[in-house]
Amino acid sequence: MSKNEHFVIAIDGPASSGKSTIAKNLARKLDCIYIDSGAMYRAVGLFIRENNVDVDAEKKVKEKLPEISIRIENAKDGATNIVFLNEVNVTEQIRQPIISQYASIVAKYGSVRKKLVQLQRKIAQKQSVVMDGRDIGTVVFPNADFKFFITASSKERANRRWKEIKDKGEKKSYEQVLQELKGRDKRDSSRQIAPLRKPHDAIEIDTTNLTIGEQTQILYEKIKEKLAR
Ligand code: C5P
Repeated sequence: MSKNEHFVIAIDGPASSGKSTIAKNLARKLDCIYIDSGAMYRAVGLFIRENNVDVDAEKKVKEKLPEISIRIENAKDGATNIVFLNEVNVTEQIRQPIISQYASIVAKYGSVRKKLVQLQRKIAQKQSVVMDGRDIGTVVFPNADFKFFITASSKERANRRWKEIKDKGEKKSYEQVLQELKGRDKRDSSRQIAPLRKPHDAIEIDTTNLTIGEQTQILYEKIKEKLAR
């Protein structure tokens, strides 16, 4: 396999494990595109909230799906995702903490997942991608060329998320961030459809004590080994 062939790199893991930073860095190094599948669930969550749909009622959410169109545009570097919801740029809006919660609720629904998985597969038909999420190696691309599962302790992940929130000037206690993260972890790993779990054939990397540079390098070395073969 070589860098010029079509490949899919699946990176799964819980929130704030470092997977999206690693995925973006890899896309730049490998000259392919990065797709943040979580952004798609966030866009659906945003639509549901903005339209006052009862997020806990799957039937109501499902009825709205035909009105939702999501598009991800890659900036020149291939790694920066610009997210459009019905052609409106919602890249910033979907990052609100409340939307994280909405995203993980709509992500429980089979109808939502079916629509987004189709979109994810379509994007990878035409080009090599690094895609991150919760079910990329298990459901979306069970035959991905590379599969990684990125973890870190919940304390470390909450700390990373808390710093991000603080840098944006928002006020939230570390304890609250930790509780929200644990709630989302529980919902994501206990749902019936496509729960968060390590694909049996994925390489697991614990990033708790690694710098971003080290994390990227570990994955890059593993990919390079196979691409050079
Ligand atoms: O990755 P991120 O934290 O932005 O994802 C937001 C939410 O979307 C997750 O908590 C999860 O519930 C959902 N998600 C998912 N499957 C994916 C990606 C994200 O269920 N492949």
